[in-house]
Amino acid sequence: MEAHKPLKICSRCVYDITIPDIVFDVNGICQFCKMHDLMEKKYPHNAEGEKNLQKLLAKIKKTGKNNRYDCVIGVSGGTDSTYMLHLAVKAGLRPLAVHFDNGWNSEIAVRNIQNSTNKLGIDLETVVADWEEFKDLQLAFLKASVSDAEIPTDVAIHAVLHDIAAKENVKYVFFGHSFRNEGIVPVSWTYMEGKYLNSVHKKFGRKKITSFPNITLGSLFYYRFIKGIKSIPFMNYFEYDKLKVKDLLEKELGWRYYGGHHHESLYTKFFQSYYLPKKFNIDKRKLEYAAFIRSGIMTREEALKEIAAEEYPYDKDLIGYVIEKLGITKEEFDQIMNAKRKSFHDYPTYYPMLKLLKPFLFLGFKLGFVPEIIYYKYFYKA
Ligand SMILES: [Zn+2]
Repeated sequence: MEAHKPLKICSRCVYDITIPDIVFDVNGICQFCKMHDLMEKKYPHNAEGEKNLQKLLAKIKKTGKNNRYDCVIGVSGGTDSTYMLHLAVKAGLRPLAVHFDNGWNSEIAVRNIQNSTNKLGIDLETVVADWEEFKDLQLAFLKASVSDAEIPTDVAIHAVLHDIAAKENVKYVFFGHSFRNEGIVPVSWTYMEGKYLNSVHKKFGRKKITSFPNITLGSLFYYRFIKGIKSIPFMNYFEYDKLKVKDLLEKELGWRYYGGHHHESLYTKFFQSYYLPKKFNIDKRKLEYAAFIRSGIMTREEALKEIAAEEYPYDKDLIGYVIEKLGITKEEFDQIMNAKRKSFHDYPTYYPMLKLLKPFLFLGFKLGFVPEIIYYKYFYKA
């Protein structure tokens, strides 16, 4: 094993062996850097990339011309989704903004969503989670002792966006992930799908789930092939300098920053700044730093210095707030933090089936049904 992992840290980015499935080549470069290069080729920021974008925009406008909206965009009040909304409107699209409220919005997030959709003149649809159900799912994932404990939110967002797109007869759902800014999330850090969600809830949940918007293979098939909905990685087409963007959003959309990547949600803030680093030794800042290095926004030296300078800072009061909101005792929380770490491999998931379906997913990837980032994440072999 050691022969394949001669280095602790990738010689190009800052991913390291806290990522269990990391593999380094003879030059010490990780597989995620290579995925980044493939994505660069697919979404170049040059004349060809611009041509591809114009083609995509024309297609979206044409497909949706008889509709009230031509695309659905999920908004969280964060930098990425607010900027995506701004770009879509600037490009002449008619988006419907959709927000999934899981009960953990910061006040700033709520105001950001209201201000930006108002200023841009965009309709907003908000889906509010059944709090008791949602809390039960979040607790189940904490009790399952896995690093994927934030997936109830991610799964629900995915489901809600597609559900609304299907109802509104919209064929394009935009996702805000940008590989140049956010990096590529290793499967061993975050694995996400509906069967996993169900099996964790079955084992650790206490309530019956009736309204939670889940995603199953069946619903994915329905949205893709019956309703013909495509997921578009819209942000990959654009130059995106976060600092400049924050300025622009503040000036033009009455938007405000909330202090950390995805910290617009208080649960995500707790999850990334406390739960993951303390329990799993996972520092998600590395994803962003690695992306910045690969995109030439930051040097590797700068990133390593920042990571070494301080551990992921966390807000003590927020931990108390999370414990109280989840309705558990401090002892129960400590039990969760101290329980033996597990992974999605310890629970029934679609994962074995995904491996078997690889040839079909490869075809879907080639035909544009399966986004590159998803295909690479699960199947890229260095
Ligand atoms: Zn790397």
